[in-house]
Amino acid sequence: MTLAFITGISGQDGSYLAERLLAEGVEVHALAHALEPPPEAPGVELHRGDLTDSDEVRALLVDLAPDEVYNLAALSSVARSWEEPDLTARVNGLAAAALLDSALLVQEKQGRPVRFVQASSAEIFGEPDRSPQDESTPVRPVNPYGAAKAFVHHMVDVYRHRELHAVSAILYNHESPRRPDHFVTRKITSTAAAIAQGRADVLALGNLDARRDWGWAPDYVDAMVRAARADVPRDYVVATGVGRSVRDFVAAAFARAGLSDWERYVVVDPEFVRPADPTELVGDATLARTALGWSPTVGFDEIVGRMVDADLRQERSASVRP
Ligand code: GDP
Repeated sequence: MTLAFITGISGQDGSYLAERLLAEGVEVHALAHALEPPPEAPGVELHRGDLTDSDEVRALLVDLAPDEVYNLAALSSVARSWEEPDLTARVNGLAAAALLDSALLVQEKQGRPVRFVQASSAEIFGEPDRSPQDESTPVRPVNPYGAAKAFVHHMVDVYRHRELHAVSAILYNHESPRRPDHFVTRKITSTAAAIAQGRADVLALGNLDARRDWGWAPDYVDAMVRAARADVPRDYVVATGVGRSVRDFVAAAFARAGLSDWERYVVVDPEFVRPADPTELVGDATLARTALGWSPTVGFDEIVGRMVDADLRQERSASVRP
């Protein structure tokens, strides 16, 4: 039986990945901080611990001897990475490097391959001079979050040279109703639903012109599993190839919520404008499509629709509660 180890289990991707692996009959173990809520997916073996405590994590990994390691844990907010660049570097950078090293140790002790997937990010490309980006685009981050992810992206390559089956999955923005509110998509869909129900009257946003490539989170989890199990370890851009602006997302979400005049409700608040924000991040996933047989299954309008519908359901059930 395959044994998988996941960090970042309480996040959007962690929950989808755990469900996917459990459905396949994989034994799923996960690391969660003492303060993290328990995972949504029943059946996950939870280990309480701190990812930045490398000795503790190494001992756990040696003990479990997993076949697959998925490193999804990270401080996920680019905006917050400006407030806490050192913590971002420790969690998103150093802890991941230690985990790679522990995976190699397990491989050497066990004498069998360990497959390691690093959830990397389009933010490693910073303000790229070409669009769409692919695996050959220069790594040149413009914020602390991207810089920490870029360090690990390079470390994956370093450990691949040590014969670890290590993969950097360069994930573009990927969304679902499980996305937390500090991401712009969920902030938009939950506020649009609240406005439609008369429970809010304004949506304060930052840069409406930023263009992102928004995909469906379970598809991105599928790409990571395929990359873990491919014959050859490589890095993959995981993206839909279609760029939309934040403004496009707002218009689509408000329309879905039954509000045709979104301009009435949206204000730009400098608090949400970032010091450095890539203008356009759009990925070319040709390699993932050809080498992994992967393709996105849910398009932009459907993603927006599913998120708004879920938030409208939540709003309606909140409003009937006494
Ligand atoms: P990220 O790409 O992983 O940082 O995902 P986000 O959903 O947080 O941000 C996506 C884009 O939306 C970025 O270009 C942000 O600058 C932009 N954006 C505009 N207004 C907001 C806002 O109010 N909150 C967030 N989180 N992002 C915003």
